[in-house]
Amino acid sequence: MNKYLQLQMQGDAYLKCVNPKCGLEYPIMSTNVQCENGHVLDVIYKNKPSSNLKETFYQRRNSKGNIFNESGVWRFRDLLNFCQINTEDNDECSKYLVSLDGAEGRQSKPYQMSKAAEFTGINKEGLWLQPEGYNPSGSFKDNGMVTAVTHAKMVGAKKIVCASTGNTSASAGMFAANEGINCDVYIPAGQIAPGKLSQAYQYGAQIIQVEGNFDDALKQSLDDAKNYDGYTVNSVNPFRIEGQKTIPFRALEYLNWESPDWIIYPGGALGNTSSCGKALMELYQWGWIKKIPRIAVINSDGASTLSDLYNGEFEGEELRWNKGNPNTELISRYYNHLDKKGLRPKTKATAIQIGRPANIIKGLRALEFTNGVATTVSDSEMLDGMSVVGLNGFDCEMASGASVAGIKKLMGEGIIKKDDVVVGILTGRQKDAMIPVDYHNNPKNTFANPPKK
Ligand SMILES: *Cc1c(COP(=O)(O)O)cnc(C)c1O
Ligand SMILES: [Zn+2]
Repeated sequence: MNKYLQLQMQGDAYLKCVNPKCGLEYPIMSTNVQCENGHVLDVIYKNKPSSNLKETFYQRRNSKGNIFNESGVWRFRDLLNFCQINTEDNDECSKYLVSLDGAEGRQSKPYQMSKAAEFTGINKEGLWLQPEGYNPSGSFKDNGMVTAVTHAKMVGAKKIVCASTGNTSASAGMFAANEGINCDVYIPAGQIAPGKLSQAYQYGAQIIQVEGNFDDALKQSLDDAKNYDGYTVNSVNPFRIEGQKTIPFRALEYLNWESPDWIIYPGGALGNTSSCGKALMELYQWGWIKKIPRIAVINSDGASTLSDLYNGEFEGEELRWNKGNPNTELISRYYNHLDKKGLRPKTKATAIQIGRPANIIKGLRALEFTNGVATTVSDSEMLDGMSVVGLNGFDCEMASGASVAGIKKLMGEGIIKKDDVVVGILTGRQKDAMIPVDYHNNPKNTFANPPKK
């Protein structure tokens, strides 16, 4: 019997619907991104990993030429072993695990940035920012794309498909090119940064321009994937979520597995929020961490679905996970309201210009588990956040500036405290050169650095 058919039957890892009342299960070889009742799925592992692995992960930082140790994703492969391979067997790793020669996640870890600390009001020793833009395609998406493409290969997919505000297509295109598989990317015409679009061209991806916004592009890509046998690598894919767990894993490892008080993310489709929530749920369940960090999700005030619903700013009801039964009718009414009023998500931070976050249900679970918060920041606050990161010698894009701006805002509101330990995720590097150039040429901006005439 084919090895994968055997695995499918053994099922040490499998897929399970997140809704506890439904709880349908599927074999790991399934390419469903939803159960029959339309709920999203989790990857579940039957075995509890030993906490001795902490030492193994640390040792692997001396990679000894092994690319799966060098990789900041696969270094933690024992905690995402949905391929069910012997993680110490290099031949098996090479055969199944997709990697850009160990580059994914390799350079991202939390750094202290004193000027950003001063800007946000957090103690210098307490603020950590983790630049995920230092991934090979320039954003955190690579963490989850390696795992999604690994699963795509495992099920024999010939073509991967995604909708994108830019960074997903760059990442998907890069890994597809490296693996020699086809890649279709659906992008909202005219709404993605040239630096991101150029990557999709360069990597040989087939670009499909959709009239409309990201939400329209996602709908079309999901339909086309279904009708033309494509493998979807958007963050509705549960294997994307597995790889992105390594973002908090790396942060925690650098903090000696002592939980910070907060982990902060910009909120778009909420894949990152979902994966951080799942990572923390698993670590807590295994007893690897004693304290649960609180997650803060920072929306743009022009694309604030989660913040509006979570904070009861629409119809007065605060949307909650509610033991797996969130009020999905409230969500539908919110979307209808947006449509009826012709309200389109609007921010210059195109990476988070998303009105219908595909992972809202898992995002709510993450907020519930971590006693999280959601809030919004303006474009100008994000630009300041982005710019102060630059003054520390690091680089990030405007959407990532939301993490810094959000910390400052929550600190000002007394929700985050000066002495708290805070990890902010800087999701991507700058790919829209005119944004900082315009910012610095306007002397009215807080951190403007105008040229001499
Ligand atoms: C994709 C992306 C986001 C949004 O992340 P989600 O997981 O969709 O919430 C934020 N910033 C950057 C730079 C991105 O590429
Ligand atoms: Zn279900």
